[in-house]
Amino acid sequence: PIILSGKEFVNHDELSYPFEERGLQFGDGVYEVIRVYSGSYYLLNEHVDRLFRSAAAIKIALPFSKNELRELLDQLLEKNMVDMDAKVYLQVTRGSAARDHAFPADVAANFYAYAQELPRNLVAMKSGGSVISHKDLRWDWCYIKSLNLLPNVLAKQEAKESGCVEAILHKDGLVTEGSSSNAYLVRDGKVFTHPAKENILHGCVRMRVEQFCRDLDIPFVEDAFRVEDIQYADEMFISSSTAEITPVIEFDGKKIGNGVPGEVTQKLQHAYEQDAGIPMAN
Ligand code: PLP
Repeated sequence: PIILSGKEFVNHDELSYPFEERGLQFGDGVYEVIRVYSGSYYLLNEHVDRLFRSAAAIKIALPFSKNELRELLDQLLEKNMVDMDAKVYLQVTRGSAARDHAFPADVAANFYAYAQELPRNLVAMKSGGSVISHKDLRWDWCYIKSLNLLPNVLAKQEAKESGCVEAILHKDGLVTEGSSSNAYLVRDGKVFTHPAKENILHGCVRMRVEQFCRDLDIPFVEDAFRVEDIQYADEMFISSSTAEITPVIEFDGKKIGNGVPGEVTQKLQHAYEQDAGIPMAN
C-alpha cells in the first residue's frame, strides 16, 4: 500500500522512524480511525475536527490545515484505488527526538495515514454480540484520542478470551463506554448513555446516534447508567466507526431483554445505514 507520510506519499516499506520516536517511547500522540464505504469517507469532517481537538489538547501543532488534511486523505484513497469498504488509520505524534519526558525544542510532528480493507461485520450487526464488564482503568482525559491504549488493549483481550465482542468499562459503578466503542442502554423506549464529558471519547457515531434519536423521536438521555441497571435493560448496544451500531444481547453471561437485538437498536441501525448510504444488514 501507499502511505501518506507527512504531506508525501511513500511506499509502505519506505516508511521508517528512528527508535527515539515519541509515539513509540511515550505514546505521545493522538490518532483517528475513519470509516470508508465503497471508497468514500463517512463522517470525515467529524473525525478531522476531533483530530485537531485531540492534538490541541496535548499541544501538538499539526503540519496542515483541516482542508489540506481532507485533500490529502482523499488522495490517499485515490492512490490506493480504494473503492471498497475500508478504514483509514491516521496518527500524529510529537515527533522524533532524544528521549526526555518534557517536550523537546523544535521537534516536528510525525504523521502518517493508511487505508485497509474492512468489510462490515454483518453477522454481529444482525445477531448481536456478548460483552463483559471491566473496570475502567484509564486516565481522566479519555476525550483525547490518545495513543496510550494499554487499559483498552487489556480489557479487549479479556473480552476476546471470554468469547465476547467488547468489554464495557465502569468507574465508581457507572458505565463510561466500551474499550473501543460508546455504550448505550435502552429502557422504556429511552436511550441512556454517559454524558460527553472528559472521561469518555466523544464518538463520531455517538454524535450521529444522538441525531438519529432526535429524528426518530426517541428520547436520548445523557445520564450515565450503573452496571446493576443493565439487568433491567430492554436492550443494549454499542457504537463505533468500525462496529457501526452493534446490538448487545448478553452481559456478563446474562441475557439482555429477550436475548435478541431490540427494536430501538434496529431502528437506529437502519438510520445509520440510511445516513451512510449503505445496504441494510438485516
Ligand atoms: N470510545 C472509544 C474508547 C473508542 O476507542 C472509540 C473508537 O474507536 C469510540 C468510543 C467510538 O468512536 P467513533 O464513533 O468516533 O468511532
